[in-house]
Amino acid sequence: MNTTNLQTPIDYLKGVGPNRADLLRKELGIHTYQDLINLFPNRYLDRTKYYKINELQRNNSEIQVIGNITGFKETGMHRGKRLVATFQDETGTIELIWFRGLKWIRESLKLNTPYVAFGKASWFNGKFNMPHPELELLVEHKKNLRSSMQPIYPSTEKLTKKGITNRVINKIIQELFIETKGRFIETLPEKLLSELRLINKSEAIFNIHFPKNQELLSKAQYRLKFEEFFYIQLQLILKNLIHKSKIKGYPFKQVGTYFNTFYKTCLSYELTHAQKRVLKEIRSDLGSNAQMNRLLQGDVGSGKTVVALMSMLIALDNGFQTCLMAPTEILSVQHYNNLMEQCNILNISIKLLTGSTNTSERKEIHDSLENGDLQILIGTHALLEEKVKFKNLGLAIIDEQHRFGVAQRSKLWKKGPSSEKEPNRVFPPHILVMSATPIPRTLAMSVYGDLDISVIDELPPGRKPVKTVHRFDKNRLNVFRFIKDEIAKGRQIYIVYPLIQESEALDYKDLMDGYESIVRDFPPPHYQISILHGQMKPADKDFEMKRFIKGETQIMVSTTVIEVGVNVPNATVMIIESAERFGLSQLHQLRGRVGRGAEQSYCILMTGHKLSNDSKTRLETMVKTNDGFEIAEVDLKLRGPGDLMGTQQSGVLNLRIADIIKDKDILSVARYYAKNILKDDPSLSKSHNAVVLKTYKSIGKYKNIWNYIS
Ligand code: ADP
Ligand code: MG
Repeated sequence: MNTTNLQTPIDYLKGVGPNRADLLRKELGIHTYQDLINLFPNRYLDRTKYYKINELQRNNSEIQVIGNITGFKETGMHRGKRLVATFQDETGTIELIWFRGLKWIRESLKLNTPYVAFGKASWFNGKFNMPHPELELLVEHKKNLRSSMQPIYPSTEKLTKKGITNRVINKIIQELFIETKGRFIETLPEKLLSELRLINKSEAIFNIHFPKNQELLSKAQYRLKFEEFFYIQLQLILKNLIHKSKIKGYPFKQVGTYFNTFYKTCLSYELTHAQKRVLKEIRSDLGSNAQMNRLLQGDVGSGKTVVALMSMLIALDNGFQTCLMAPTEILSVQHYNNLMEQCNILNISIKLLTGSTNTSERKEIHDSLENGDLQILIGTHALLEEKVKFKNLGLAIIDEQHRFGVAQRSKLWKKGPSSEKEPNRVFPPHILVMSATPIPRTLAMSVYGDLDISVIDELPPGRKPVKTVHRFDKNRLNVFRFIKDEIAKGRQIYIVYPLIQESEALDYKDLMDGYESIVRDFPPPHYQISILHGQMKPADKDFEMKRFIKGETQIMVSTTVIEVGVNVPNATVMIIESAERFGLSQLHQLRGRVGRGAEQSYCILMTGHKLSNDSKTRLETMVKTNDGFEIAEVDLKLRGPGDLMGTQQSGVLNLRIADIIKDKDILSVARYYAKNILKDDPSLSKSHNAVVLKTYKSIGKYKNIWNYIS
């Protein structure tokens, strides 16, 4: 049906040529006809609307006005040279400005002749100007049909500079439609199309580029978004199914003495419903014959650690070793102490391995791991070192997993027993990763498609929500008075300074300046202050942390090294300096360091007066809510999902048309249908699924999903 080969390089397209082809490849990643078809507009502009100059608003959006150029002037010198044209209609004037190609532009434009000027009108020095407008003679303009939905394509500064404007892209795409006759192979099964009343592929592609009307545009968008989500979900679900059927795991058949004794004797509180439910999910995974690969999400303070601990005890009950990896030394030490204390009557061998473990201890740990004497190993990245070999690692847990990457997770896989002795009975360990950066479930499923997900959505009882306020620097005296009152009541305080990698030296200075001024306001011996930062030796960090935990110091001044996991229930005030410099999830994590005991806790966000809109939104969100999931949603909206999990996601968030937040309803529908199709036909071998199989089969060959959907 479709005679044009969509893999044809764009160089061959009329109006492209080698230079433009090169730019399109470099700037937009467009190599073939297919890439061009799938270059979807970011938005649409109403080009049937003409503004009068006195109607312009200061919102800096793209508009078009009809008027005459009444004069030119050149200003500035050398590289700052500009051409300014006065553009007038019956209601007023604006300035059109050019920074490049001045001579040519001046010569090609006619004075006192009606033009349509199109571009961004910005307000500067008391008047509107339009830099580098698109200009078209009104008589020419009238010859072309205008749509109220003119597509605006993604572009780059370089493309615009080199003259590949939106209009040019539009023209090129028109050529493509002429050459392909606008016929494209259907990529969704008939049944789906009719059940969901989706428009067909060719119609969708046409209307996304040249919408006939709003209704068809919406239908085209829906269909293409659905398709994008559908194939991503299909891919994820299949990966998960294959994983479950192929990757065998050690069946932990029994829950034994360690677990039961702990539950009956050591646990000093009742587990929450959510903790019990999650433990059940984990137990059932561990008991099956498949390898567990599970993400445990729960807000800060929701009690993930005890779930981890009890899962580890199940491993011990079945004769396996287990390990817990945390992102920082402080956190590993804390886990270690906590475990030693909670399990002290269980008579378990537990060891700590971090960067500062000395050589002889290290050797001992390596040996006892290999001969099986050591049951539980806690530590940092040091666990991943080549020399760390387990005799029979059955379960590996990663705390605060957003600090680690996928590569590190997979390194743990290989820490199981060596396969030399029993090659057929050697499986990778079960994996449990924990995260306190909660993300909405649908998003989590898309990002961590290969993981099953458990959620602790309930805090232990009796917690008083942390009260959060935003204070300006000039109110510092009041804040200090408040701190003094809290210390007088026997409480402890955190004061945190930002740390931005790029300028560690500068941040260090901020911290030290802050520390000195705090010492002035809280002088010894009455007040004792700890300080903690990344440049300290681990032993010194540990020393300061211990002093604070024991209550020997009342104030802990630190950088964000205390961000994750630290648990000092007597600390009731978290003061965050330059709070505008922190991201939302970081602020939430820091706030999570207080509110861990029975007393009312406070979080005080200190800032100067100059705040960007995003900063304001972040601060307002923090003041408004304590709910990590709600915060995560705002964070997503502010930052976009691509940023969310750093480098660890597998490009599934690299969406072309759908938006994982705004279109989450479409995502759910797509996931539902993908699941159903696979339930009925796991190998996609039924004839009505031929389209799906064919499309799916090309997955993996391409990085971006739209490269194969065509
Ligand atoms: P997070 O999920 O942030 O890692 P933790 O596991 O550190 O949270 O738990 C926070 C605090 O809550 C700890 O002091 C822990 O002992 C306590 N805790 C956990 N579960 C319960 C519970 N069910 N009832 C009371 N306290 C609990
Ligand atoms: Mg924790």
